[in-house]
Amino acid sequence: MLGLMQNQPMLISSLIDYAERHHGDGEIVSRRVEGDIHRYTWADVAKRSRQVANALDGMQLKQGSRVATVAWNGYRHLELYFGVSGSGRVLHTLNPRLHPDQVVWIANHAEDEVVCFETSFLALIQAVHARCTTVKQWVLMCDADKLPADTGIPGLISYEAWVGKEANTYTWPVFDENTASSMCYTSGTTGHPKAALYSHRSTILHAYAAALPDVMCISARDSILPVVPMFHVNAWGIPYSAALTGCKLVFPGPALDGKSVYELMETEGVTYSAGVPTVWQMLLGHMKANNLKFSTLKRTVIGGSACPPAMITAFNDDYGVEVLHAWGMTELSPLGTLCTLKNKHLGLPEAEKMKIRLKQGRGIYGIDMKIVGDDGNALPHDGKAYGDLMVKGPWVVRDYYKGESSPLINGWFPTGDVATIDADGFMQITDRSKDVIKSGGEWISSIDIENIAMAHPAVQMAACIGMRHPKWDERPIVAVVKKPGAEVTRDELIAFYEGKTAKWQVPDDVVFVDAIPLGATGKMLKTRLREVLKDYVLPGV
Ligand code: AMP
Repeated sequence: MLGLMQNQPMLISSLIDYAERHHGDGEIVSRRVEGDIHRYTWADVAKRSRQVANALDGMQLKQGSRVATVAWNGYRHLELYFGVSGSGRVLHTLNPRLHPDQVVWIANHAEDEVVCFETSFLALIQAVHARCTTVKQWVLMCDADKLPADTGIPGLISYEAWVGKEANTYTWPVFDENTASSMCYTSGTTGHPKAALYSHRSTILHAYAAALPDVMCISARDSILPVVPMFHVNAWGIPYSAALTGCKLVFPGPALDGKSVYELMETEGVTYSAGVPTVWQMLLGHMKANNLKFSTLKRTVIGGSACPPAMITAFNDDYGVEVLHAWGMTELSPLGTLCTLKNKHLGLPEAEKMKIRLKQGRGIYGIDMKIVGDDGNALPHDGKAYGDLMVKGPWVVRDYYKGESSPLINGWFPTGDVATIDADGFMQITDRSKDVIKSGGEWISSIDIENIAMAHPAVQMAACIGMRHPKWDERPIVAVVKKPGAEVTRDELIAFYEGKTAKWQVPDDVVFVDAIPLGATGKMLKTRLREVLKDYVLPGV
């Protein structure tokens, strides 16, 4: 017997309709590429996204066609989120930090037909446009009178001239909720990037889940500054959850340095933020150097890479800001787990609470998790056994766009992460499977080794990798970037590990480097680091 409830497709257009009706006066504040601050409301976003939809209809762009963005976090990008997907096209957020050849490969693979890009990326687009064979229209996200002459990009139009002339009335089409809504390519540390193709249904379910109190806890009382880019898995879904809840959105545009982010947080009463650890390092560095405090910031979600304990402590103890450690992947839209304590943990001593906060967190309802051993059998959730982390759920990829075969194993998506899960459901990543170090048959967690180094006051960043060893197979070394003006020697750092980890896990060596190579989403690129250190030989080998 079927239930007798209404069966309305979950469509992204309903989010922006809701935002307009229920919190139309809610503010959206953006720092523009030009440096000035732009302000408008959810009602304006709704009107302008309908103009975007009319502009796309005017081009006779078919349903399902890909419209790419090469853009910062800002209001025009937000309008495209709703206008493109809402009208039945697929929003493809392209990562501008990739190498131009990769941008070309991705644009051709996605078969982008329209590309909207910001002035900051004009040189990039000038370098790649001739090789992007499917693009019919290039749109520069600028005012009509700011379109530069002689860019060399055929038919280039300005965003404002493009959408400005359109009516702001539009009837959103109704279609199957499983229709594709947006796509995002994975960081691609090996081989070609792969695309997750999200649906309206997966996006809305994720938006609901993300807003829950024990997930990101987004509400109408928040002012949220997503530092995580809108080209990195849809800014972790924040734009959608924001439309659903009616929080204020504050977009930092291109100014992601500590000073600019701090100033915007203070002037806009930001209560909440989200980003990868590398960004917060810049912010905390700026705050410390200038003896600053936050007056409104309460919480920040940190994910994308393991959050070093020193960062959780600094936010909590020095600034009274709660860190929510999160784990996710492009293939998971991206949220998988969030680390929020249970009631029974609240009375624990600080050191015990810290141990929990360092975990990646509890699986969100909608994400099923298991860990398996080499034989594929499930391992116990006892917080000790570790194995390959597998997930499934309605916002997890089933196939990659144009993928040759499904990545699933018996219906489960293998994440490539190695993890433990404890009896309370808290998952902790010990490593990426390819980053794991195996010494004398025993695993060493590179994350643990990095976290210890990062706790040293002179260390700005640390990356642990395994080096070939004739006897032990692999031994860990740690590459370290020192804080400006700080000093520490190799021997001091090795001694710092004493008592903090098993003796055989202490790295064999410390290599001081000027910088750790970072990928396009701010994560450490260990493959590149290995190339940089290719001539390195372990001491005594
Ligand atoms: P991406 O798809 O580029 O977001 O990368 C996903 C990968 O980032 C995951 O499979 C993890 O290896 C890593 N990752 C994300 N969040 C965390 C976290 N909180 N701790 C450790 N690794 C993380």
